Amino acid sequence: MNVVLFGPPGAGKGTQAKELSKHYDIPHISTGDILRANVAEGTDLGKKAAEYMNKGELVPDEVLIGIIKNRIAEPDCKSGYLLDGYPRTVPQADALSDILKDINMPLEVVLNIAVPDEELVIRLAGRYSCKCGESYHIKFNPPKEAGICDVCGKELYQRDDDKEEVIRQRLVSYKRNTQPLIDYYEKAGLLVNIEGAGEIDEVFGQIINVLDQYK
Ligand code: ADP
Ligand code: ADP
Ligand code: ZN
Repeated sequence: MNVVLFGPPGAGKGTQAKELSKHYDIPHISTGDILRANVAEGTDLGKKAAEYMNKGELVPDEVLIGIIKNRIAEPDCKSGYLLDGYPRTVPQADALSDILKDINMPLEVVLNIAVPDEELVIRLAGRYSCKCGESYHIKFNPPKEAGICDVCGKELYQRDDDKEEVIRQRLVSYKRNTQPLIDYYEKAGLLVNIEGAGEIDEVFGQIINVLDQYK
């Protein structure tokens, strides 16, 4: 199945994608994780991207389009893909559709996970992340042992961009650049709305009800 998980920062895309990736055995492709890995390794791409990420702004389209083109071409995507955090602009969505046409793996569904702004701020401000890509919440989804990842045992950290002022800027950028894609995918007949404000398990249940149709 070929899926985009769409929604504002903090909607729960990463949390759901991790579980969905195990459940359906398809790769979880998070452009945020790919960018952060580059920042951590100090690559040229990472150095360039960090300037934007730390301000809560989008990294330029040509950078992201290059990343996604390479990643989608890897063999594990032959069984399908779960995109998380891409596309975030109309040019990125147009480029994706061209890339997918070339490899004959068109998008089947875009899940739009909706959560009110006030809740997003609370989620992001309490988020603890792991280098392995897992994320936790101090109240809503705490790790078994405080500060330690359940999955890999590494120490958890708070992302530089999960500070209140950067969170606000990310929400502004979402509304300006990314929200128009809801209309874009609605018109393409691919959009399915998911109520993202419930418990993690409830949201997961809604999503698999939809995705089971694409197995
Ligand atoms: P995104 O990838 O969309 O930015 P995450 O999956 O990282 O979002 O989730 C943001 C934060 O909210 C994390 O701290 C996560 O543990 C928490 N979270 C995710 N889903 C829910 C939910 N349904 N209810 C409460 N908290 C959630
Ligand atoms: P979240 O979903 O929690 O907002 P991500 O981990 O998806 O965060 O993204 C973190 C940052 O990485 C974004 O604020 C942005 O700077 C950059 N980024 C990730 N994906 C994209 C993208 N598709 N286009 C532009 N910038 C991106
Ligand atoms: Zn971990």
